[in-house]
Amino acid sequence: MKITIIGTGYVGLVTGACLAELGNDVFCLDVDQSKVDILNNGGIPIHEPGLEDVVARNRAAGRLTFSTDVAASVAHGDVQFIAVGTPPDEDGSADLQYVLAAARNIGKHMTGFKVIVDKSTVPVGTADRVSAAIQQELDQRAAKDASFSVVSNPEFLKEGAAVEDFMRPDRIVIGHDNTPEGQRAYATMKKLYAPFNRNHERTYWMDVRSAEFTKYAANAMLATRISFMNELANLADKVGADIEAVRHGIGSDPRIGHSFLYAGCGYGGSCFPKDVQALERTARDYGQELHILRAVEQVNNNQKHVLGKKVVTRFGENLQGKHFAIWGLAFKPNTDDMREASSRVLLGELIERGATVAVYDPVAMKEAKRVLALDFADNKEALSRVRFCESPMDALQDADALAIVTEWKAFRSPDFDQLKSKLKSPVIFDGRNLFEPQVMSDIGIEYHGIGRSILT
Ligand code: NAD
Repeated sequence: MKITIIGTGYVGLVTGACLAELGNDVFCLDVDQSKVDILNNGGIPIHEPGLEDVVARNRAAGRLTFSTDVAASVAHGDVQFIAVGTPPDEDGSADLQYVLAAARNIGKHMTGFKVIVDKSTVPVGTADRVSAAIQQELDQRAAKDASFSVVSNPEFLKEGAAVEDFMRPDRIVIGHDNTPEGQRAYATMKKLYAPFNRNHERTYWMDVRSAEFTKYAANAMLATRISFMNELANLADKVGADIEAVRHGIGSDPRIGHSFLYAGCGYGGSCFPKDVQALERTARDYGQELHILRAVEQVNNNQKHVLGKKVVTRFGENLQGKHFAIWGLAFKPNTDDMREASSRVLLGELIERGATVAVYDPVAMKEAKRVLALDFADNKEALSRVRFCESPMDALQDADALAIVTEWKAFRSPDFDQLKSKLKSPVIFDGRNLFEPQVMSDIGIEYHGIGRSILT
């Protein structure tokens, strides 16, 4: 099938590459010339395990093209995926300017029948706005030969496992309407996703608004589980219980399950924070408060400060003359994405209190330099107190303590003797509960986890 993907970010690039892998002829459009240049020169602009190979293989086979040519992109695909960003607006709502710009471009150039797929995470009702934007362009140029249907096909891939998630999805959600065009779109989407449904049906067909809502409901539920555990972890610290034992104890109940029950120093990334806010905002537009989600957001904002607070409790308010190591900058492992990462909050606090910091991340160093230069744009002196290191051990040299912010596998079994010998004082603040407090105590490391202050 001939497919166009609008936006070659995390979602668009993975969607395009994976659909090409299944034999489709895919044209990827982006407005960012530098991204398109990287892709056309055989590189990839993001870190995503396995993606580079899929892109290279399908480019070589001539099934995957990258371009900034809008007219050519609209002409190419019978199916047009909109996979552009939907960042939060100032009031927390999803900013739809990129989605609507993409829709207008389709309307300006399209002929014949097109299926328009909202892949971006967009608030309930957006498909109607996308339809209106396209129709307005068609009306303006009196394009009588053109018709279309907008379907909602939200994406559930996880950064860091995006290719695997796309190729082996738990479920595919598609919302379409029941007009003749909607039925035609249904038939097209059924054909496109048929390879995923060979062994058993994974597609949930529904109306468009329910599909749009499903994506927000999923992210809101996951964020709720995290904030719930974080709030309980903070209480566990006070009452002298171990949140890890509690996690096992409740996760074994099949009604609860083990996933997404990890306490830590807060969730980040490009999705949970903005999607929770956007759903709250949608509710407010309809005169309803989502009390639980408001609390989820507040708990998470506080939780991003939990490591900073533990550092202050241990070392005092004034951190001048103190030096800290940070392991992990990306918002989660296996990605270089630093959007809303907890590391940025901790780093800001340590630097603001006068400390110097040595940081290390297995893949996010380049992105960290870019992002922190923006965070500290008005304070170059502060940025000069951050040292970007080549290895985890390099970052530890003469540090008063180590703070772990991202649970990269490479951090799970360090050489503790070497770690102790490098640190000035053997103190670990573990924002992801990677180690056992008792083991740390046995090897002489002062250990501060999240919700792990067991009374012995
Ligand atoms: P991103 O910022 O990585 O990529 C968006 C891309 O769209 C950029 O390359 C940008 O240059 C391009 N773009 C913007 N306007 C354009 C236009 N008019 N025409 C062509 N290209 C344009 O974003 P992302 O992380 O891939 O997210 C995309 C959407 O998918 C968002 O709505 C997000 O919430 C959702 N989503 C993201 C994830 C994730 O893990 N990142 C998972 C599921 C859903």
